[in-house]
Amino acid sequence: MRIVIKIGTSTLAHKSGLLNIRRVEGLVKAMSDLKNAGNEIILVSSGAIGMGAGKLSLADKPSDIPTKQAAAAVGQCELMYTYDKLFSEYNHTVAQILITGEDIEHSARRSNFENTVRRLLELGALPIINENDSIATDEIVIGDNDTLGAIAATAVNADLLILLSDIDGLYTADPHKDKNAVLLECVDEITPEIEGMTGGAGSRFGTGGMATKIKAAKIAVNAGIDMIIANGKDPAVLYEILEGKNVGTRFTARKDDIK
Ligand code: GLU
Repeated sequence: MRIVIKIGTSTLAHKSGLLNIRRVEGLVKAMSDLKNAGNEIILVSSGAIGMGAGKLSLADKPSDIPTKQAAAAVGQCELMYTYDKLFSEYNHTVAQILITGEDIEHSARRSNFENTVRRLLELGALPIINENDSIATDEIVIGDNDTLGAIAATAVNADLLILLSDIDGLYTADPHKDKNAVLLECVDEITPEIEGMTGGAGSRFGTGGMATKIKAAKIAVNAGIDMIIANGKDPAVLYEILEGKNVGTRFTARKDDIK
């Protein structure tokens, strides 16, 4: 299987913004194992701004663009250093690809991106993608990595997109506020009712929240790709998904689309 795994900032980092070492080590181990089992893995990793903010000892997620971009520049380095070190322990080679909205809209640049990812996979490397936050401005921003994950999954014709987050999946209501909220195991159609279940924004350092995950689901299922939202707190969730167990919320691909 060709799998795009998106890991959100809330999964990668503690509330301080600093790296959750145990969590990231577990996720890298699981992804390495899935790759050893013959799957192709493409990682879309957030965390650049959050980790940069942590490393620069900023009190909170930066709100002004220059500080965000500076934090991303610091954090992206730290992220790739960490992934390179950890994946190397399992003999996997990582590759960094940073893109902006312009690279997606511009067809020649988009096909350069697609070709590079495909070639990296042929060469056995593990592409790690993030938005080029230090360059992206309002006009050219993709804005969140859930959407970026769906764009990447579509570009490489993935079999599955997994969004790992700090929530178990899509609930009928906000589970932090409503004790009657029920986790939806499967969504076959993204109806206006489903879109109404998106709740508020994301975590302290992250960007997304449920709204961007539904947006990503629409892109993925329309391209014929199943998408799963699952809780990344336990890396074993990746094995469970590949074993076909029911975890999180699965959005099933539109069957009328030919991949
Ligand atoms: N690209 C952002 C970062 O690395 C994350 C965007 C998001 O949280 O979705 O910090």
